[in-house]
Amino acid sequence: KSTAIPKGDESMNITEEDEEEDVVDLAANSLLNKLIRQSLVESSHHVEVLQKDPSSPLYSVKTFEELRLKEELLKGIYAMGFNRPSKIQEMALPMMLAHPPQNLIAQSQSGTGKTAAFVLAMLSRVNAQELFPQCLCLAPTYELALQTGRVVERMGKFCVDVQVMYAIRGNRIPSGTEISKQIVIGTPGTVLDWCFKRKLIDLTNIRVFVLDEADVMIDTQGFSDQSIRIQRALPSRCQMLLFSATFGDSVWQFAERIIPDPNVIKLRKEELTLNNIRQYYVLCEDRKSKYQALCNIYGGITIGQAIIFCQTRRNAKWLTVEMMQDGHQVSLLSGELTVDQRASIIQRFRDGKEKVLITTNVCARGIDVKQVTIVVNFDLPINQAEQPDYETYLHRIGRTGRFGKKGLAFNMIEVDKLPLLMKIQDHFNSSIKQLDPEDMDEIE
Ligand code: ADP
Repeated sequence: KSTAIPKGDESMNITEEDEEEDVVDLAANSLLNKLIRQSLVESSHHVEVLQKDPSSPLYSVKTFEELRLKEELLKGIYAMGFNRPSKIQEMALPMMLAHPPQNLIAQSQSGTGKTAAFVLAMLSRVNAQELFPQCLCLAPTYELALQTGRVVERMGKFCVDVQVMYAIRGNRIPSGTEISKQIVIGTPGTVLDWCFKRKLIDLTNIRVFVLDEADVMIDTQGFSDQSIRIQRALPSRCQMLLFSATFGDSVWQFAERIIPDPNVIKLRKEELTLNNIRQYYVLCEDRKSKYQALCNIYGGITIGQAIIFCQTRRNAKWLTVEMMQDGHQVSLLSGELTVDQRASIIQRFRDGKEKVLITTNVCARGIDVKQVTIVVNFDLPINQAEQPDYETYLHRIGRTGRFGKKGLAFNMIEVDKLPLLMKIQDHFNSSIKQLDPEDMDEIE
């Protein structure tokens, strides 16, 4: 066994920040999701549709051919490996491509094909011969704008004369420049600046307006107001589309303010359940004995891959060092890493290069690594009020009933935390069995 610990490795030094819990950064999570996404996310629910005119017929498509797209666009879609529209695209695409154009508010979790849908709409409405901005897409960050731009470039690979321009900080365009690119993707602040102050974009020529990631957008100070100012200057015949992964009250209020007379479509998320998860707990005295229990579990059962959750960066680092010293192949995913670094760690883990992933609370939210057989709560998820954080518990351990495999979950519990664990057990009405870490035969 190798016990090589990279001495002097900065990332292993404990700093004051490590005492903190990582906070959720919606935009970073969204980007991470895009970077590690490998395929469409499924949902067994039906798409719910609310038409602005309920008496008009409702079309859905099962193939891309039915949409009568330009030849070069269809080629681009097939070149991306898409065979048929995703669930949300079946309903959304006919609405988005209808004549006259219709406005749309669409909500479904990330990975269900929203971006591909609006990129398709923009590419199909653009006139490549007209050399000025015709489609405008607002995104919450520079990086997310770039991701969307990449999709435009891939899908539009055969639409040779169509080009994308990024209205993002740092993209310095000399005043007086005539923008000849047809699709502009940018963040609200810069787009506003380019439209009103610098007059680089004439909003009256825009025919498709997309507001992507509305939930992330309203989370950023100023972005709602800036987006609304932009929207107000668009011509009334401009098609307006809004997308969001979640649909809380505030997103809905914003969506209704910014999208006039919309059709609304929603696809519910596959719910997480603890039904097919066997849950255990081990009573421990301190961090060291938690680690010992972990080793016993690890030695006692055949484990595919494991994710271990810690409450603070400090604990996560400590545990990483301990495990490395004992010769385990582990990697550490924590909030101080850049999104690119996180994506590559998750990718390596997915590829089986490491068997154990240690992470802090929020980092691994929503990452879905199918081959993980066990999840360990090295620390219980607890909120600011020192109460159990049920939602996080469910997110860490739960699987989707239909698509998920069976799993094992272990909670390492200090005696004084036992009441919290019991609350979790009651809350989910599921059983969490005590385990003697010396006797792994108890695991069924
Ligand atoms: P969202 O915007 O809802 O997060 P995306 O449009 O980014 O979803 O799609 C998620 C993933 O699925 C991407 O990798 C995308 O290339 C792929 N995808 C989208 N639509 C289809 C489709 N119809 N068939 C196959 N893959 C698709």
